[in-house]
Amino acid sequence: MTKQEELAKLMCPNVKMTIEDLEKKYPPRNLKEGAKVTRFAPSPTGFLHTGSLFASFVASKIAHDSDGIFYLRIEDTDTKREVKGSVDTLVKQLSLFNITIDEGYGFNGQYGPYLQSERSDIYNSVIYEMVCKGLAYPCFCSSEELNATREIQTSNKERPGYYGKYAKCRNLSIDEAIMKIKNGEPYVVRFKSDGNFENHIDFHDEIRGDLSLSENDLDIVIRKSDGLPTYHFAHVCDDHFMRTTHVIRGEEWLPSAPIHVQMFKALNFKLPHYAHLPVIMKNDNGNRRKLSKRLDPEASVSYFVEQGYPTDALLIYLCTIANSNYEEFRLANVDSKVSDFKLSYDKFSLDGALFDLEKINNISKDVIFKMPIDELIEKVKNWAKTYDNNLYNLILEDEDMFKKIMNFGKNDPQPRKDYYKYAEIYSHIQYMYKSSFDSLLAEETPYDKALVSKVCSVFKESLLNGMKPNKEDWFAYQKEIARKLDFAYNKKDMRDNQLTYMFSDYMAIIRVALTKRKNAFDLVDIIETIGINETIRRLDLSVN
Ligand code: GLU
Repeated sequence: MTKQEELAKLMCPNVKMTIEDLEKKYPPRNLKEGAKVTRFAPSPTGFLHTGSLFASFVASKIAHDSDGIFYLRIEDTDTKREVKGSVDTLVKQLSLFNITIDEGYGFNGQYGPYLQSERSDIYNSVIYEMVCKGLAYPCFCSSEELNATREIQTSNKERPGYYGKYAKCRNLSIDEAIMKIKNGEPYVVRFKSDGNFENHIDFHDEIRGDLSLSENDLDIVIRKSDGLPTYHFAHVCDDHFMRTTHVIRGEEWLPSAPIHVQMFKALNFKLPHYAHLPVIMKNDNGNRRKLSKRLDPEASVSYFVEQGYPTDALLIYLCTIANSNYEEFRLANVDSKVSDFKLSYDKFSLDGALFDLEKINNISKDVIFKMPIDELIEKVKNWAKTYDNNLYNLILEDEDMFKKIMNFGKNDPQPRKDYYKYAEIYSHIQYMYKSSFDSLLAEETPYDKALVSKVCSVFKESLLNGMKPNKEDWFAYQKEIARKLDFAYNKKDMRDNQLTYMFSDYMAIIRVALTKRKNAFDLVDIIETIGINETIRRLDLSVN
């Protein structure tokens, strides 16, 4: 055994596989020409960021548009940031958004384990060979020493980091290293970079095209003192042995790409294609900034789930921020689904996607409006069961009525598009149900009580003795009744005869009496739906 091997064995005592064994165990995938293998690799930190939904949506679409594979890998090597249970939430939310996972954590697959904390054998097998070949070494520098180095570098106006003359443990002899480990000194494992920061490497990004980046000269940590790998190293091992063809990830990783390219090369692994996605930005009073979990509720996918946005609305929106030509496609193909559109790398915007909640709301209004009624009822009911007890109870009380209400105005020449999220429905329709109408009684009417009382009793008479409410001549008929109570036909009538109120005030009084709202559905629809008895009951409540 060489000295180098002795050191490697000490650092990775239980290694049973060689890199060659791993290559055989995880062979290149047998897929059709052009099929892409992509992944979503979240860290389980408690919630699904809207930016991560975007990344997973793009990665899954790129894979599925090419009949490839999209898999889920959980990057749980930062134990401090880990939040228990977040993987389950994450998987549930992805499935809510119809993002189909073909293999990975919690799913089947031949390229696992898909949980990084269960892949130590693989990482150590690779580290073992790296140490043997002099590509990696143990570093015993304490955090105090590293801080002191950083201070020196800052005061010398030098780049911070562990490189060149600052990479102290690079120069330890193998005997010294062996001794320190045997003495139980804590250490990390570092990659031995052969790069020169002054050199540039050519790097092709699928979205950004050809780039020239400074070569990496940092001896970055690949295994932490707790034995777990760092992101950089795990990325290289996992994306290689899981046979990812296209690494699609956030642009925040672009500066680290030279490290990754260098490691792929050092290990003789085929470099995957890279696509760095634009960061999702927010317009904050004219300033562009990152969508932030702390400041923006919409930074969390849960917000859209809890508020009851139809998943399609968000997916359509993500398509519009992904590809600049999607809106045109959607206009030309009104009934198309997101799956009918193929994403292309060259249509991505490069300068950060601006997240626009108003635009999502508009898309969502349209999606809710166009959804077949039975599907909509089912979706709202499912949503309300978890997120809106009041609404759920109303639906259970009278589902036919709910269906009728949700259909209101759909066929009008100017169709009503009342909701952009399910959370808006209850307050919109609450007055339609007798049970929840009564809880609104305390609300004040904006009109004089005596006037309200008079109008309501006259209106009641007209219902009992006159024409049945309809959408044709009933309004004209009501206008005549109102005129007898001095509600003007129009502005001229008001001026000429010095009247105080218009016909619209008459209707508004009725509307408030029947709904406790100034804006409500069409009165004829309301009366037809709640029925004459309930209408009379409500009018009586206002008369008294
Ligand atoms: N775990 C990394 C993150 O959540 C994944 C980055 C990648 O996709 O490679 O940022």
